[in-house]
Amino acid sequence: MKKPAFALSLSLLLATSVDAATLIHAGRLIDGISPNAATQVTITVDGDKITAVERGFTKPAKGDSVIDLRDKTVLPGLMDMHVHLTAEYSKDDRLNDFIMNEADYALKAVKYAKRTLESGFTVVRDLGDAFNVTIALRKAINRGDVPGPLIFTATKILSSTGGAGDPTNGWAYHLQDDPGPVEGVVNSVEDARKTVRQRYKEGADWIKITATGGVLSVAKSGQNPELTDEELRAIVDTAADYGMRVAAHAHGTEGMQRAVAAGVASIEHGTYMDDEVMNLMKQKGTVYVPTLMAGEWVGEQAKIEGFFPELVRPKAAAIGPVIKETFARAYRAGVPIVFGTDSGVSAHGDNAQEFALMVHAGMPTMEALQAATSVAARFLGIEETHGSIEIGKQADLIAVSGDPIENIKVMERVTFVMKGGEIFKDH
Ligand SMILES: [Zn+2]
Repeated sequence: MKKPAFALSLSLLLATSVDAATLIHAGRLIDGISPNAATQVTITVDGDKITAVERGFTKPAKGDSVIDLRDKTVLPGLMDMHVHLTAEYSKDDRLNDFIMNEADYALKAVKYAKRTLESGFTVVRDLGDAFNVTIALRKAINRGDVPGPLIFTATKILSSTGGAGDPTNGWAYHLQDDPGPVEGVVNSVEDARKTVRQRYKEGADWIKITATGGVLSVAKSGQNPELTDEELRAIVDTAADYGMRVAAHAHGTEGMQRAVAAGVASIEHGTYMDDEVMNLMKQKGTVYVPTLMAGEWVGEQAKIEGFFPELVRPKAAAIGPVIKETFARAYRAGVPIVFGTDSGVSAHGDNAQEFALMVHAGMPTMEALQAATSVAARFLGIEETHGSIEIGKQADLIAVSGDPIENIKVMERVTFVMKGGEIFKDH
């Protein structure tokens, strides 16, 4: 007789604890999908999921708790498709290669991940780290050991010798050695396959390549193509064997065209994107991640005497205004655009400044917000669980004071962050 009675009382206990929910009273809701905002909405969160979205402010049942966001706008957690969580560029950046150890990068990354989450970004794609720190960071965040966004990471960047991702670029000759596929340096089809497989072995989710020169690498050209058609195809095809897609850093037209033709998933920066490349991207469904903030930031720093090495300064000064103009043309041409900032060039936590730049360059505000929510989720392949405030989705949501449609700058002051039903910021 004792046994069934115990089982009954336990099941009753489970039933009440499962039923206790959190009701979020949202004054205004931008759900990530609808073309217009709704007002006075109740979002019910049970555990880590959204279980109801209803008009009006629902009264809590016994045991339920209420989060009062009646004077706020609630949105889905934001997603940044281009960050570097182990870095934050400074005047002395190049010195770091010689004085920073793995643990130093790891501890900085913990700080940057927290800042990123507290600014409203619950998902990021990291496109280049140091020492695979983002793999350990991803695990620590998923375990709940440290706060941070859900991370998809490319770990080390792939590049050719002297390319924008060559880790010894600009060093004294006697220190350069000859980095190879394990370090991400590719000079043949064989190297290309090896380096992709190496990233897979280490736990990368994505492959990041530098298809052309870079602004901040200490090299003369920011535009030259750096990989052959054969190398690019080997990278994309090998990545596909392991279920990975490729993100291509590209400023110059020729390297960008080759990368798109080879089948990369995204073009990062895209500075000198011409009409032909735009058409090819539309044909192939290649996504553009503009990183307007990076262009803006390097342009500003280039005005400061001695901030950049002399090889870098003219490239930095030239590129900012061009990216903005390219973004406007790409939007008008109908190239698919996903939100990305290159944070780690600019400061982590400033990510939402990208919205105002997108809107000022001609993208309607709601589209800019969706580029960082439902559109980004679809791009990552996590649209079943992320990117919108709908029943069954993971409870990743944020709040801001004021109406982003009226003033996009309010996105830069996020006051509330919930990730997976857990509150990480509320002030
Ligand atoms: Zn970058």
